Amino acid sequence: MTNEFDVFIAGGGLGGLLASALLTQQGKSVFLSERLPFFGGRFTTHNLDGYEIPTGAVHMIPHSQRGILGQILLRKLSIPLSIIDTENFTTWYWNNRKPFSHKSFWGIFRAFPKWKQRYFTFRKVLLNRSRIKNDSNTFYDYLSSKTEDPQIFKFFNAITGFALSLDISEIPVTTMYQFLDHLYKYGKAGVPIGGCKQVIKSLVDFSGRHNGILKRNSQLISLENTGSVISTGVVRNTKTNEEMEVKAKDFILNLGVNQTNRVLEKSNIDFRLPTPPSADGGGFAFKPKNSLLKRSTVAQFPDCEYVKGAVEPTLVSSGLAPKGSHLFLTHQVFQSKDVVTATKRARDEIFELFPSLNEEDELCVHTFHRDWPVNYTMQGTDNENISEVFPNLTFVGDGFKGSKGWFMTEGVAYGSQEVTKYILGRES
Ligand SMILES: Cc1cc2nc3c(=O)[nH]c(=O)nc-3n(C[C@H](O)[C@H](O)[C@H](O)COP(=O)(O)OP(=O)(O)OC[C@H]3O[C@@H](n4cnc5c(N)ncnc54)[C@H](O)[C@@H]3O)c2cc1C
Repeated sequence: MTNEFDVFIAGGGLGGLLASALLTQQGKSVFLSERLPFFGGRFTTHNLDGYEIPTGAVHMIPHSQRGILGQILLRKLSIPLSIIDTENFTTWYWNNRKPFSHKSFWGIFRAFPKWKQRYFTFRKVLLNRSRIKNDSNTFYDYLSSKTEDPQIFKFFNAITGFALSLDISEIPVTTMYQFLDHLYKYGKAGVPIGGCKQVIKSLVDFSGRHNGILKRNSQLISLENTGSVISTGVVRNTKTNEEMEVKAKDFILNLGVNQTNRVLEKSNIDFRLPTPPSADGGGFAFKPKNSLLKRSTVAQFPDCEYVKGAVEPTLVSSGLAPKGSHLFLTHQVFQSKDVVTATKRARDEIFELFPSLNEEDELCVHTFHRDWPVNYTMQGTDNENISEVFPNLTFVGDGFKGSKGWFMTEGVAYGSQEVTKYILGRES
């Protein structure tokens, strides 16, 4: 095998696989190394008794076909994949109130029990979107200057808790408004048929068909530089421990911030990336016999302290669970480092919300922190995509989503697109 490529990509998560597909489509020779025995990182599943249990993402593409990820997959790469909108935008479960669903973004302000709250959210928050320019105060401070109504705080905390794994006291006003603006412009979430694993499989197949070489069990250990550019990546086969040198014109790292810094430490390179805090959380997988949510939606639980939302992707893609069963996935945030207590309390909240669930319905619970968090950096604190030190070293994935307000996998897709443009533009 030749060890010289146009582009070396380390990390076979969504970010690396998207970059690989976009570059191989343009005729670039790509070598991608993934240290785990599977591709997809936090955007794939493992099968447990017929249930597709996520390694992270709960099968939701934040803006369905309309977002940047949907556009890259369906339009740019023409991947034969179906992404289906959820029927409802959101369903709100307030204590002592019938669940309330709305189909479009603007229905959101009707989620409140009282007219006064609806008016406030509509007039003082949502209509203000375009007026907020650069405000580094937190969204909590911003709301506190306008209202004391606890339900309004709980409402926004449920949204950011589910979508960003953050409390509103951790989000700058500008970031919050970018996020709301994207929800307004690009709309509700969608579920890919076959779930996130199908997206990953399609991307791996795409690069393979376009002469990309994608290796599992292959860990990037260090980089070598000759003067002002990176010249070589040293990868180790995690099964045999054999090491191999890979030379390339461009190097893309899809490793997250901490892992990137570990690689830089082992290399003869003395710069490090800034390391803002990660966004941590957890999630349960349940297998209810009957659907709990009835219609596909993002369910939000504003009165809960821990569990912020849930989805039932089997309402769109039934193959994610055995016939006659469902997959019900929750998401909770950690407000403290006491993961064990947070998990216990979240379980109690779920059983209270859905009394028909019982202990036998629980498939598993996962926690996401340290090197496998929900987001490598909190939304709005992402690093730049392009190294200031080496023009041929770029970064993709969560932790490098750029500053345009795209969140979760939409941000990952945005970053991969920008890096691809940069590499193709620089070389033309
Ligand atoms: C609980 C949870 C729920 C979520 N829900 C959603 C959702 O519903 N919708 C959504 O859009 N987003 C969701 N997300 C976020 C989404 O999963 C991530 O944004 C996305 O998967 C990140 O992709 P990535 O490529 O940046 O990182 P990763 O998926 O972490 O990929 C990085 C890859 O690099 C590999 N790697 C690391 N070090 C090395 C090395 N030295 N050499 C080679 N390979 C290496 C890792 O093994 C990994 O495969 C969720 C995340 C979590 C945790």
